[in-house]
Formats: sequence, C-alpha cells, structure tokens
Amino acid sequence: MVEKSIKYIVIVGGGTAGWMAAAAMAKVFGRAVSIRLVESEEIGTVGVGEATVPALGHFNRMLEINEAEFMRQVQGTFKLGIEFVDWGRIGDRYMHGFGTTIGADFGGQPFHQYWIKARQAGRAKDIGAYTLHTMAGPLGKFMTSASDVPASSPLADIAYAYHFDAGLYARYLRRYAENLGVRRTEGKVKQVIQRPDDGFIDAVVMENGEKISGDLFIDCSGFRGLLIEQTLKAGYEDWSHWLPCNSAVAAPCENVGPPTPFVRCTAREAGWTWRIPLQHRTGNGYVYSNKYISDDEAANNLLGWLDGRALGNPRVLRFTPGRRNKVWDKNVVAIGLASGFLEPLESTSIYLIQSAINRLLSLFPDREFDQSTIDRYNAQAAFEIERIRDFIILHFCATERSDTPFWDYCRTMSLPEPLANTIRLFRDTGRYYRNADELFGQLSWVQVMVGQRIVPRKYHPIVDRMSDQDLYEFVGKVEQVIRSCVDVMPSHQAFIDKWCKAPPIAM
Ligand SMILES: Cc1cc2nc3c(=O)[nH]c(=O)nc-3n(C[C@H](O)[C@H](O)[C@H](O)COP(=O)(O)OP(=O)(O)OC[C@H]3O[C@@H](n4cnc5c(N)ncnc54)[C@H](O)[C@@H]3O)c2cc1C
Repeated sequence: MVEKSIKYIVIVGGGTAGWMAAAAMAKVFGRAVSIRLVESEEIGTVGVGEATVPALGHFNRMLEINEAEFMRQVQGTFKLGIEFVDWGRIGDRYMHGFGTTIGADFGGQPFHQYWIKARQAGRAKDIGAYTLHTMAGPLGKFMTSASDVPASSPLADIAYAYHFDAGLYARYLRRYAENLGVRRTEGKVKQVIQRPDDGFIDAVVMENGEKISGDLFIDCSGFRGLLIEQTLKAGYEDWSHWLPCNSAVAAPCENVGPPTPFVRCTAREAGWTWRIPLQHRTGNGYVYSNKYISDDEAANNLLGWLDGRALGNPRVLRFTPGRRNKVWDKNVVAIGLASGFLEPLESTSIYLIQSAINRLLSLFPDREFDQSTIDRYNAQAAFEIERIRDFIILHFCATERSDTPFWDYCRTMSLPEPLANTIRLFRDTGRYYRNADELFGQLSWVQVMVGQRIVPRKYHPIVDRMSDQDLYEFVGKVEQVIRSCVDVMPSHQAFIDKWCKAPPIAM
C-alpha cells in the first residue's frame, strides 16, 4: 500500500479555535505529524468567548490538564448554568442549570411529568426548586461532585462548566501546544496557493515571502474564513431571519462582590446582555440588532448597566448568524468562527470548536481525502449546529414581550419546522424527545420551555396511577432532598479560595 498518511497540518489562526485545534492535534499525534500554526498579532483575535458548557471538562481531561492549575492560569470561576432575566415577560427570572435530570424520574417517566400535575393543582413550586444547580446557583453555592455520598445523591454527580478569560485561555493553550512541538509563525498570510489540477490548497504564503505547505489545512481565521470562504467559496447560509441580532458590544468591568456560579443573560430592548464573573473582573456584553438600536446607544446602555467601573472602552463586533454550506471542502476544514456563528446565549461556540476537533479526529483523512468522509463530517456538523440554533431561537420566540419592535418581531416570526414541532408537542403533552446526539437534552429544553412560559396542557396518563396525596409527597420530598444538599454546599467564593485561587492581575 502506498503511504498516504497526513504528515503536515497547517492551522491558519491563533484564536481559541486555532490553539484548541493545535493542542488537541499535538496531544493525539505527538511528533509523528508536523503541526504549524500561523497567526497575526496585528489582526488579533475576537478576544471574547468566556463562558462554556460542561463538555469542556472532557477536552481538558483529554489534554490531561490539571483543573486547579488551569483555573488559576485563566482566572477561572465555575458555572452551574445560566440565569435568564426578563425573557418571557419583564420581571421573569429562571435558571437553565446543567445536569442530567430534573428532580427524580419515577416509573419510567421524567419528573417533570409529575411536576406538571402537581403544579396544575397548585401544589408544586417553580421547576427550578427541584434541581441542585438551579437552587445552588442563585444562592452563590458551588462544589464539585462529592465522593463520600450515596451514588443516588444529587451531590454525587455535579455537572459544571467554566468561565475564563479568553485571552489567558488562548495563551495557556499556546504554551501547551508549543511544548508538544507545534511551531508558531507570526505574520499575515498574504496569498493562498491552490493546486492547479483539483483546487486543493497547496500552501499559504506569508507577507515575508515564506511559503508554508501542508497536506491538511485547518481554517481558524475567524469570521473572514480565509481559506474556506475567501479561497474555496464554500458559501454561507444566513439565519438572520430567525436570529435577528447581528452585533455585540463588549465591556469588562471591575468585580463587585463574590463571583456568581452562573452567567446572567438579561433580555433588553433590542437583544440581550451577558454578565460573566471571573476572578479578576466581570465580562459584560450587549448582543443586539443594529436595525433596532444604534451602536452608540447600545454601548451607552451597556455602560449604564455595569456592576462596577468599566475597564477599557466598549468594543463593537459585527456578525451574521449562520453556517458555512460546507465546513470541510477539499483539504480545508473550517473550525471556530470560520465555520459559522451562533450568538453566545447558551455559550456554545467553544463547544462547537471542541466538537469539530473530535469529529475531525474521528474522521481523520489520509491524503486521498475520500469524499464519503467529507460528506459525513459536513452532515454531522450541519445537524449539530442546526439543533443548537433551534434551542437558541426558542429563547426569542417563546416570549410574551411586546414592549419594543425587536420583541414584536421575535414573538411573531416564523420558526424552523423542527422547533415548531418540539414546542407543539411539549405544549400539548409535556413531552420532549432528544434528536440523536444533539447537545441539549430534555433537562435543558424543559427548563427553558417552562422558563419561557410554555405551559403544557396535559401530563403523561401514567402519572394518574399515583394518588394525589402520594404525588404531593413525592414532589415535596424531591424538593426537600435538593434543599438539604444545597445547605451543605460551600459558597462559590470559598470553593475557589480553597481550591484554585488565581494570583492577582494588574488591570
Ligand atoms: C460577542 C461574542 C461573544 C462570545 N461569547 C462566547 C462565549 O461566552 N462562549 C463561547 O463558547 N463562545 C463565545 N463566542 C465565540 C468565541 O469567541 C469564538 O468561538 C472563539 O473565540 C473562537 O474564535 P476563532 O479562534 O474562531 O476566531 P478569532 O478569535 O477571530 O481568531 C482568528 C485568528 O485568525 C488569525 N488570522 C486571520 N486572518 C489571518 C491572516 N490573513 N494571516 C494570519 N492570521 C490570520 C487572527 O490573527 C487570529 O489569530 C463569542 C463570540 C462573540 C462574537
């Protein structure tokens, strides 16, 4: 057999996507493959992206990263979920907490089916009272899983994610990847050379004339998509009609009080704001549609909402929600912002980077680049981002707000059919079914649908097999177990101080 394995990988871009890809490839292939990464300090990175989902823990474990050391290096804090404020109606507040189940399933039915009946009878609290994360978060409590409790205890398996400084994260991964032999080249790519016969990328040429050739090119060049779009013209599917926000302004501020173990996303007149607590500062941003509010007004409003003194001037970013028609074409795989963009309402972009890396490793090609492999990769990537897209749209469309033209638009827009179906089924029957291995499952969809005031009319008939008295006792017992677990949890600040307190940074 002729030797066809990939020997040279070139990564264009050194933001979160570029360095995550470099770190993972170096860890998996060692020095058997040459990995080069080019990036331009002058162009810089997008520099935001500070909240994650629990899956990142798997990535860190794959890299064999020590978690406490990692958290110190990136000024990290812990995340139990996201608090949504003013989404269904002004004055509403609910948590989308991580984990696997709400309450405790019984008789083959998820807990929320019992909750619906008890709630209809006025005998159950808000659904957040029945999950550890959604109770502990607002009380500022956090701990990792306990090993000295029964396996059935909610404390035995606590899912969590991280908040971190995006700049420090990229630096951390760069050190990691360079230690494993990744070669970094500073400078701008000024030309891309394609093979004349099949259009595959042969090399990128730097401004100083250096030519960097490769077998496989990973395009992590950000929104511009230097290889996938500017060179290969993959095309872009625009989702602005479902996700009207196209801009963001970011402005970190000084911390006021201990860090919350959750992100807060507050619905605003023309979009929403994020608040992400780190050890050394708080990240803030306003994601909005510039059709409904100007950049200046959005920036001024954001500054007015900050908890503490602003650190630096607000920075405006523009984007188009959507995905590349093909994220893998010929010998180019686009990862990160080069592959598509969804606003960070559910902190999913870094997850999509991680997932793309895993997919690429699983479908890793040889120099023949079989089309069947490429097609499978593209189909999986499209499925994954479209399911997340629908989950994000849910937050906008399931609203009763009519106080601004932005919310009028969101409330009345037409929906992707799979999402419309999911909402219909839940509203009619309280049922939800996960599609294949989409990222967000029943726990997430139910919490958000209920939080957004989608009230199921009915519950599963099997629930009626339990007497009303037993039902109320069951629901009450679950609440009491959660409450007693939360009581013994330390504060988030105390946990950080003990386990991963970062050195102070001059701001
Ligand atoms: C407002 C906002 C908030 C976000 N918040 C979150 C969040 O909370 N959670 C989350 O998961 N994600 C979030 N994201 C997404 C997250 O920031 C990105 O997914 C992540 O930073 C990856 O970016 P990237 O590496 O693809 O691109 P970039 O950071 O833009 O990096 C591009 C790289 O390409 C290089 N480059 C480009 N052109 C050239 C050239 N010609 N020559 C050489 N080098 C070149 C640049 O120098 C840079 O190194 C957010 C995004 C935005 C816009």
